[in-house]
Amino acid sequence: MEKYDIVIVGAGPGGLTAGIYAGRQGTKNLIIDRDLAGGIGREVPEMENYPGFDNISGLELIEKMKAQAVKNCELHENENVLEIIKNDDEYRFTIKTDKDSYLSKTVILATGSSHRELNAKGEEEFKGKGVSYCATCDGFFFQGRDIIMVGGGNSALQEALYLNNLGANVTVVHRRDEFRAQKHLQEQINEKGINIIYNATVEEIKGDMLVDTVVLKDTQTGELSELPISGIFISVGYIPHTELAEQLGVNLDESGHIIIDKEQKTNIDYVYAIGDVCVGLKQWVVACGEGAVAATSAYHDLK
Ligand code: NAP
Repeated sequence: MEKYDIVIVGAGPGGLTAGIYAGRQGTKNLIIDRDLAGGIGREVPEMENYPGFDNISGLELIEKMKAQAVKNCELHENENVLEIIKNDDEYRFTIKTDKDSYLSKTVILATGSSHRELNAKGEEEFKGKGVSYCATCDGFFFQGRDIIMVGGGNSALQEALYLNNLGANVTVVHRRDEFRAQKHLQEQINEKGINIIYNATVEEIKGDMLVDTVVLKDTQTGELSELPISGIFISVGYIPHTELAEQLGVNLDESGHIIIDKEQKTNIDYVYAIGDVCVGLKQWVVACGEGAVAATSAYHDLK
């Protein structure tokens, strides 16, 4: 089995940054991702708060990070880590994937999160037939069409703006009477004249082959109404991927995120965690900072 000092599971912004820092420390390192580097970060239509770039897409930024990471660290994409086993040895962990097994002295969990679903009637049936979780991937197909964006956070409003810019006729549907999203995004939604339906939940998504209506429930009155639409974009938050952390006995908080200290250490020795899978602010710049800290902590602990 190939032996490493640091194995990083997940090649999002945090994992790639950890790889860059680890490589420059002179340790032997590997990043493994079950998908392509970037994960759901590839779907971010545009970012205006990553320092150094006025405006950049998630895909473009991840490709830059990946190009830099592979100069410093081995990267395996499309390889799924199935299990991490603790060993009583200098190489404390066996990392079993769907392709191979590796030994490592330390592990950095950068496993990210996936889209939360609404669990509304018809959601599963119409996935890819009008139900989407990714404006960047599918927005193009809805130019000139009536669609709704469900959610009231930063992602929902950012994606609603992106879809509006593409030429879709977007209505934002939110379950409360105020958005969670930052004020500047709310202002942009108002400036663009994007329709908003507050206090409404999605009860059912209907159609024949493709989505053609959505049934909304007014949360104040309980009244049901049917809205003709061609598409429904869902952006109602994320669920952290903690299966590997749980296998290792890593502590989670009540929301299911990994608890870390200031050095990105978990409660399990030589296991660190970074990015969206952790407690804390969900921002690329934070994930990158945490990646740098985790790689440095692992390096010091190896000495
Ligand atoms: P989020 O902040 O957790 O917001 C999720 C939204 O979906 C909330 O408005 C929530 O409503 C709504 N929601 C949740 N479950 C729902 C359900 N079952 N039915 C209907 N609505 C539901 O998620 P996010 O916007 O994806 O953002 C995730 C994290 O990334 C956040 O920390 C965010 O700040 C960060 N982020 C930052 C930026 C940026 O800096 N520009 C961009 C994107 C994301 P309630 O408000 O009623 O709970």
